[in-house]
Amino acid sequence: PLVLTEFLDRAVSLYGDKQAVYCDSRVFTYRELNGRVNQLSHGLSDLGVVKGDRVAYLAPNTVEMLEGFYGVFQLGAIMVPINIRLTPQDYLFILNHSESKVLFVDQDFYHLIQPIKDKLETVEHIIVHYKEAETNETVYDEWLARHSTASFDRAGLDENDVCSLLYTSGTTGNPKGVMLTHRNNYLHALSTMHHLRVSDSDVYLHVLPMFHVNGWGAPFYYTANGATHICLRKATPESIFKALEVHKVSVLAMAPTVLNSLLQFYEKNVPVIDQDVRVVIAGSAPPPAFVTRVEKELGWEFIQVYGMTEATPLSLISRIRSQLSHLSLKEQYGLKAKAGNPMIGSDVRVINENGIEVTHDGKEIGEVVVRSHGVMKGYWKNEAATMEAIRNGWLHTGDMGTVNEHEYIDIVDRKKDIIISGGENISSIEVEGALYEHPGIMEAAVIAVPHEKWGETPHAFVVLRENQKVSEEEIIAFSREKLAHFKAVTSVTFVNELPKTGSGKIQKVHLRNEYWNARGNSERFVN
Ligand code: ATP
Ligand code: MG
Repeated sequence: PLVLTEFLDRAVSLYGDKQAVYCDSRVFTYRELNGRVNQLSHGLSDLGVVKGDRVAYLAPNTVEMLEGFYGVFQLGAIMVPINIRLTPQDYLFILNHSESKVLFVDQDFYHLIQPIKDKLETVEHIIVHYKEAETNETVYDEWLARHSTASFDRAGLDENDVCSLLYTSGTTGNPKGVMLTHRNNYLHALSTMHHLRVSDSDVYLHVLPMFHVNGWGAPFYYTANGATHICLRKATPESIFKALEVHKVSVLAMAPTVLNSLLQFYEKNVPVIDQDVRVVIAGSAPPPAFVTRVEKELGWEFIQVYGMTEATPLSLISRIRSQLSHLSLKEQYGLKAKAGNPMIGSDVRVINENGIEVTHDGKEIGEVVVRSHGVMKGYWKNEAATMEAIRNGWLHTGDMGTVNEHEYIDIVDRKKDIIISGGENISSIEVEGALYEHPGIMEAAVIAVPHEKWGETPHAFVVLRENQKVSEEEIIAFSREKLAHFKAVTSVTFVNELPKTGSGKIQKVHLRNEYWNARGNSERFVN
């Protein structure tokens, strides 16, 4: 069966003595990692965890989190990784909703669990990661040491078993629990390792959180290839650049907002470092200006991916440099600024309201639908939402896109974020992309606000760079220079920071609330 435990087996048998993971100054080989995984499985089994039970993790990117996946999988149990940037109220919701039996929590996050401990309905055991933890709870290392490193009997594992329950980012509302199977993750891993050309010489830096769609599968495909994992407890531009140099990192992946902070840091400090990065991967609508800057200034190859939790997550990927070598650099950057082509095993189409595919002219907009090995089993305990999302085997993404003659799919926007002005669709992503070209702008997010004449019009929230003075009029004029006039922003709110999810996505729901709160909420529901 296509079960994920096979990936670690492969690494142990082919790369047993190779460095598997580095975390908080500790280094483990694949054989050592496997021993810890077995101890974890035996330990969980002693606690009464059986196939199908949920085991929750609240931890940053650490070796404990990485081994957690494999330790939990060996039992046929389900991993529930939780976003570390939520509130105790959110944790209470997720832990009770998922009916988790055991909770592993990193010492730095334990204080967020203390206030809700009495209200946890199903959690029977709390185990705190890390030695220095001052706690009355079970301490992970001591507990692990009491169990055998001998292999664990995995009888009864099936590829169609659910192996992870992942709560969506909550960018648009309440997080939903997405059930993914071994098969989903296994085939997604095979496809991704092919497209990213993953090999045993890769050193992967975990910047993207593993709690976010299993770190886009990185715990699986780097392991399967015997590559090395570098875990960063806190991913700041300083810690990232330092890790690149110390560990000779070859690949890293992150949200565009994090990439933006790297670029800003690089610009200010121009660290002259000796590094071997071959590729950086970003999802969720990186502004085109980033693509050019990453390739030109940092000298890294940029790859854009499109995905969503419900698809394990990745479905589209931009082509790599060697596949685009016949094009000029400018054309290459232009293509990489679009989401990409369907990945192997993913059938991705763009359909109009009648369910017919749009013309492949790069202009007609429709909804992106996906049929692939990665499409989730369903939303946990939410049959209605599952039936709404998956119809006739197609996952309806709620994202709008176009297809061009090279089968390149461009994500125009989320259906909910598109601005409809005078009957024309405006992509908030495109408008943001233009604003990012302004030298004084550090971050920008665009939402629809009502307009008497046009119905809706783009409104920008802008964070300026340090010591920059740019007026609302200048920004409006700049966007009119860069874009067709109907797409230009017509008003601006300056803010010190933008609200973001745990994975670094801008939460436009909160911006809409902010806009309306500032205006006393009158007219709010005109549309
Ligand atoms: P929620 O569903 O809880 O509101 P979310 O949709 O942000 O949160 P994820 O599953 O993490 O949760 O994100 C998937 C979404 O991110 C996609 O549906 C799409 O809107 C956006 N996205 C991902 N990749 C890209 C990309 N390359 N370009 C544009 N948008 C992207
Ligand atoms: Mg979503």
